[in-house]
Amino acid sequence: MICRVCDSTNLELVIDLGQQPWCNNFLQKEEVGQEPFYPLRVLFCHDCHTSQLDFTVKKEIMFGDHTYLSGTTKSLSEHFRNIANEVDSKFFANTNQKSVLDIGSNDGTQLKHFQALGYEVLGVESSKTTARIANEANVPTLNAFFNQQTMHGIGRKFDVFNASGVFFHLEELHSVCAAIKQGLKQDGVFVVQFLYMKSIMENLAFDQIYHEHLLYYTLETIEILLNRHGLSMFDAYLASIHGGSIIGYISHYGVREPSKQLLAMREEERTSGCNSIEAYRQFDIRIKQMKQDNLNYLNAAKTAGKRIFGFGAPVKGNTMLNYFGVGPDLIECLVEKNDLRRNLFSPGMHIPLLIEDEVAEQPDIYYVLAWNFKKEILANNQSLIDKGVEFYFPVNPKVSA
Ligand SMILES: [Zn+2]
Repeated sequence: MICRVCDSTNLELVIDLGQQPWCNNFLQKEEVGQEPFYPLRVLFCHDCHTSQLDFTVKKEIMFGDHTYLSGTTKSLSEHFRNIANEVDSKFFANTNQKSVLDIGSNDGTQLKHFQALGYEVLGVESSKTTARIANEANVPTLNAFFNQQTMHGIGRKFDVFNASGVFFHLEELHSVCAAIKQGLKQDGVFVVQFLYMKSIMENLAFDQIYHEHLLYYTLETIEILLNRHGLSMFDAYLASIHGGSIIGYISHYGVREPSKQLLAMREEERTSGCNSIEAYRQFDIRIKQMKQDNLNYLNAAKTAGKRIFGFGAPVKGNTMLNYFGVGPDLIECLVEKNDLRRNLFSPGMHIPLLIEDEVAEQPDIYYVLAWNFKKEILANNQSLIDKGVEFYFPVNPKVSA
């Protein structure tokens, strides 16, 4: 194994979540029990400090036809609108004929907001189904993996590149970075959104570790990657999305000066010690304790005769369910909005999914797997809470959507 960022072989195993199925692989009834399992382990690079998975499930398996839709979540759509407005007003308010390329553009939710601001847009999306949905909604979308070859085929430059929540998925990491370098106009801006490993550790949100997330960045480690490709970050802030994500602004190397805010965040990160091996060892200990605490809670509720449903069926929930070993004996079903997941079962633990309209009777407890939408969930379900239904959050993020 060599480091995905710096090619070092000086890597150390820090977190071992065992053998897990690919967590986005929700199963048809006849597929239950047939799904493959892969190692889920995090290694720490002693040279560049990037934490990363050692095992790669092939991208064609993971992203060939996924069914996650950005547009189904209201707070996410609002977040995407804010991003588009912010990028435009900060950098391109006086630019005519502006253009944006979105990497992993999903159902086109982000690009619609850029279209509304007059941008020529292009999405690159690997999932057939979501690319089709985007094209049907008049968001021009290429069904392909974004890399140097794809960029070469596109053959023009863009004012804005956007990569929301895909930058840690990338199996072809260096090819993707080189392609951005190649396709970004000289004064262009690349907007990246990625899970912040510092927040993951603080929130104990270990369920963000799954096969699609090959890399876990901090400001220090992403900069090493960017610099290697002639790019550098010049501004960043922490957003509530996914319980703590960095929105970073990147330019060609040295074209824009780092902002005061970015410098302050880098300093805070340095003081926190989150880039040290010791931080990862502590994280590992806390994850093991969390497993024990959650099993105690669920078993006690079950013994007391309470019915427990899962709230949401996010892919990350499967990391938690599989690592804890929680199946339908403890959590009867996972209640989900996304209609594409009707009649499916969770990979590994085989908990049946129910679409909201199929819920006939409410449980005593909702075990909230979609904890990153804590604010939205509590607000939308006040009437159930008033009736005595408990909403249990295994992860309590400092910031939530
Ligand atoms: Zn490294």
